[in-house]
Amino acid sequence: MSTGTEQSKVWFERAKAAVPGGVNSPVRAFNSVGGTPRFMVRGEGPHLWDADGNRYVDLVSSWGPMILGHAHPQVVEAARAAAAHGLSFGTPTIGEVELAEEIIGRVEPVEQVRLVNSGTEATMSAIRLARGFTGRAKIVKFAGCYHGHVDALLAQAGSGVATLGLPTSPGVTGAQAADTLVLPYNDLDAVRQSFVENEGQIAAVITEAAAGNMGAIAPDAGFNAGLRELTREHGALLIMDEVMTGFRVSRAGWYGLEGVAGDLYTFGKVMSGGLPAAAFGGRADVMAKLAPGGPVYQAGTLSGNPVAVAAGLTTLRLADDAVYAKLDANAKRLGGLFDAALTEAGVKHVVQYAGNLVSVFFADAPVRDYPGAQASETWRFPGFFHALLDGGVYAPPSAYEAWFVNAAMDDDAFGVIEAALPAAARAAAEAVQS
Ligand code: PLP
Repeated sequence: MSTGTEQSKVWFERAKAAVPGGVNSPVRAFNSVGGTPRFMVRGEGPHLWDADGNRYVDLVSSWGPMILGHAHPQVVEAARAAAAHGLSFGTPTIGEVELAEEIIGRVEPVEQVRLVNSGTEATMSAIRLARGFTGRAKIVKFAGCYHGHVDALLAQAGSGVATLGLPTSPGVTGAQAADTLVLPYNDLDAVRQSFVENEGQIAAVITEAAAGNMGAIAPDAGFNAGLRELTREHGALLIMDEVMTGFRVSRAGWYGLEGVAGDLYTFGKVMSGGLPAAAFGGRADVMAKLAPGGPVYQAGTLSGNPVAVAAGLTTLRLADDAVYAKLDANAKRLGGLFDAALTEAGVKHVVQYAGNLVSVFFADAPVRDYPGAQASETWRFPGFFHALLDGGVYAPPSAYEAWFVNAAMDDDAFGVIEAALPAAARAAAEAVQS
């Protein structure tokens, strides 16, 4: 099936000379799985093609945005039509109002929205706003949750920070980290105690609405509701980071599944249609503190970019109940295939879901937090990953990432996955801890 990886190898060598580590985002470099990152040249529906002409069933979906599959004709046409009218104006536009209204219409607690360019920018701005609104400095975050590469939020972060095994990052000063309190995920007692110890000082608790950056770990029943109660009781804001879950796990994201209202929300990925766009929003009285109406400054040359807005708005308008039913069914079907192959190969494992985010942990029992994810047998993952890759399946190149299905996956795509899994499960079974 494989036509080799010569072109990807050549391009990776060139990339390493021109770009640090050869990549523009660390996990793409395959550091934790080894081998040559594939240079993708084309995507269509559930598939990607690399520079050597290999076709893959894509289970990364650009880390979440591509819920409709790649190059959806209507999304591409919307972006093309917008581009033909001008790429950027630096003025208000009609499309950005429509996108804000679409988000507000889907997520009830969101009364106003500001568009930005990345999820990182969204969380950074939401935190500044929470601090400005409350007049307090401290932020609570949870170990293993990733909120982008915001200085104050890198401590014990998931995603690439977990993949590379970093406690935090050089370049983040003590002062920037000092106001961040990192607590264990799914541990309400720790949050309660932290509010007592820091009475009157905590501006906000930020949490992934369901964790997806240490693998898929849904909040325990009552965890998010407990955060809601504690933040309200202590005059802090609750920031629900739905960059990953937003508009993916339901029409209204994780909020649509659970109904626990945050004060502020962050979004990205799906609402961008695959172009650089993200958003933060929430209670109108909090959002009113933003400039120009209020004193908390936040801005962006390309914010609300018309091409990104057109792609995002079209994606959301196409994401109807049928699409969400398909995503859920595809996630369950994928998880079922993992389960069958790993059971057959005698590999201990847990297939976990957070809505339609899927993960495989090589562990005996469900994983609830970051230490649990770290304690799983992640050394089984590289063999599993590479056997899938050789069989034409592009999986996330890290044991700590969720797997992202899309609604374009069909029987043919699942056939490729099913055919590749036995060898992948055997590789996981035969892996030895180094
Ligand atoms: N928040 C969450 C929950 C994420 O998963 C991510 C990225 O994966 C971010 C924030 C940062 O988004 P971006 O990569 O667009 O900066």
